[in-house]
Amino acid sequence: MNDFPQFEYQQDTLHAESVSLETIAKEYGTPCYVYSRAALTATYHEFEQAFANDDYLICYAVKANSNLAVLNLLARLGSGFDIVSGGELQRVIKAGGDPGKIVFSGVGKMADEMRMALAADILCFNVESIAELQLLNQIAAAMNKTAPVSLRVNPDVDARTHPYISTGLKENKFGIPIEEAEHIYLSTDIFPHIQFIGVDCHIGSQLTELDPFVQAGEKLVSLLHRLRAHNQQITHLDLGGGLGIRYTNEALPSIHDYVAALRQTLGQLKLRLLIEPGRSLIGNAGLLLTRTAYIKHTPDRHFAIVDAAMNDLMRPSLYKAYHQILPVIKRKGDLCNYQIVGPVCETGDFLGHDRKLILEGGDLLAVMSAGAYGMSMSSNYNTRPRAAEVMVDGDTVHLIRARETIDQLTASEAILQT
Ligand SMILES: *Cc1c(COP(=O)(O)O)cnc(C)c1O
Repeated sequence: MNDFPQFEYQQDTLHAESVSLETIAKEYGTPCYVYSRAALTATYHEFEQAFANDDYLICYAVKANSNLAVLNLLARLGSGFDIVSGGELQRVIKAGGDPGKIVFSGVGKMADEMRMALAADILCFNVESIAELQLLNQIAAAMNKTAPVSLRVNPDVDARTHPYISTGLKENKFGIPIEEAEHIYLSTDIFPHIQFIGVDCHIGSQLTELDPFVQAGEKLVSLLHRLRAHNQQITHLDLGGGLGIRYTNEALPSIHDYVAALRQTLGQLKLRLLIEPGRSLIGNAGLLLTRTAYIKHTPDRHFAIVDAAMNDLMRPSLYKAYHQILPVIKRKGDLCNYQIVGPVCETGDFLGHDRKLILEGGDLLAVMSAGAYGMSMSSNYNTRPRAAEVMVDGDTVHLIRARETIDQLTASEAILQT
């Protein structure tokens, strides 16, 4: 199976849908993030079809890629959203998302963010501690509102993924231990401005097996049965995000099998199922287009120094993540073993190690699977303006974020006047 059906070679040139990446580089410059509308749409439909006629809501995890065009397309497809900050709330609203389909996650929601979300009438707060619940109750009281809440339960299952993106073990900072959560759900009288409507978990990211999802799901379902026995009416179960994508040759469950496994954990339980996919929706719908600036041969190594760097795509430096790197134009000649590195002054600044490529200075490269946690984790380190972003739709290219300028970078800074 081709993981990038919307990014294919036509006569030895890599295309995004019907547009050559060479054309995009000429017009918009590099580094540039390139997304495919068709790829994003197709993946969203795959999720929808897997749910069939169930009562469900897909809440796209905004932090994976928060460009307004991405959010707007998903809103038009009917998606809900999982946000982790007031900033993301404002983005979703600006992009035309329905606040009634927003869930608010995160261990550190601040008072002003809670106020903003209560005023917008979001679907649910995924609360991660008693202290947070107390604050939310207090703020809701002051606003004369009732806050809809799921407790984020920490099911203590091993997601078997990179430790930095594993979140469902008891030593992680996320969630509330399941026994404690049960106790809180049954103490509604202490929180008169809270209405418990759901149970939530999120055990990690880039999971390549279904088993941890099923284990977590089963633990939450048994909690739900206990709550129902106490007459606590919960109307939804939110199983978070975390389904992995293929970066290299990982064996992965399909979206269909993933959703089927989650649905199965419900058994006879009738309620609405929520999921919060980020990476699995947008990851393989985007790539990072970069140009080779220099080829440098040292006695030890061959380096391709490209114009994208760790500030543009942090995943390799942060998690030693692997991204496939493809030549935009296939050359003939001898393969050479390259270290693909950026211009940032850090040895950790690389996009790929030991890539066998045929390259010359000036050649374009496509760093694949960069749609999720690429642009959204980018920074201005080394005073590098952030990349442009475009979305291809058939034979049309839409600029969805202009390349940042140096003036923008310094605009809010000031020197001392005396
Ligand atoms: C990051 C995150 C997600 C999305 O995770 P993916 O691995 O991108 O699907 C979903 N829910 C919560 C609470 C998150 O923090």
